[in-house]
Amino acid sequence: PKVDLATGDIIGMEALLRWQSPELGEIGPERFIPVTEDNGMILPLGAWVIEEACCQAKAWLDEGLFAGNVAVNISGIQIRRGDLPELVRRILHKTGLSAGTLELEVTEGFIMEEPERAIKILNELRDLGLTLAIDDFGTGYSSLSYLKSLPIHHLKIDKSFIRDIPGDKNDMAITQAIIAMATSLDIELVAEGVETETQRQFLIDEGCRYGQGYLFNKPLRAAEMQQLLQAQDRQQQAG
Ligand code: MG
Ligand code: MG
Repeated sequence: PKVDLATGDIIGMEALLRWQSPELGEIGPERFIPVTEDNGMILPLGAWVIEEACCQAKAWLDEGLFAGNVAVNISGIQIRRGDLPELVRRILHKTGLSAGTLELEVTEGFIMEEPERAIKILNELRDLGLTLAIDDFGTGYSSLSYLKSLPIHHLKIDKSFIRDIPGDKNDMAITQAIIAMATSLDIELVAEGVETETQRQFLIDEGCRYGQGYLFNKPLRAAEMQQLLQAQDRQQQAG
């Protein structure tokens, strides 16, 4: 879940992959994603993830449980192929999800590898009506001149900066600078890895409106997410 830091309301969600292997147990995405990027399986896997996320979001929207957006992480390889806009358009058509409900997260590192090409594809995706986010911001040596030409709506502050707030003064200063910069460029911020009340308060005070992390929820299975949405729905009906 992604939440409004001030109210705790769920404003969206990020779809995450987990692999439960019968032989090897639970394998994290940091292990299996690079393998799929090497052997090309990231393309069918990536397409499957977008479709599953869209299907699930559509079902929750139809039940009236959910009004935010669902974010899917995109690998640089999916963008480099160039047919991502067409794939997304097909999946939206097939699942019936409106484009405005889908957000794609692209890491800063990838954009900076091939900025001209990334900007072209991101523009095509934005023209479809999607929301775009830069993921893990602050870790990828962004060029600020590119940042202002990117068609992005959200910037996600990497959890490595949030983790050591308030202990690390440098991380606090960097976080403040990212928030100030994004605010003046009119880009909305999401803080990743929010774990403590102190961090939540600091982010609100500095002007970051949204966040995600263990302070609010750990990653949830779809059935658990549904219960959470139902609980929020009941609360809103009561209040
Ligand atoms: Mg992400
Ligand atoms: Mg991230």
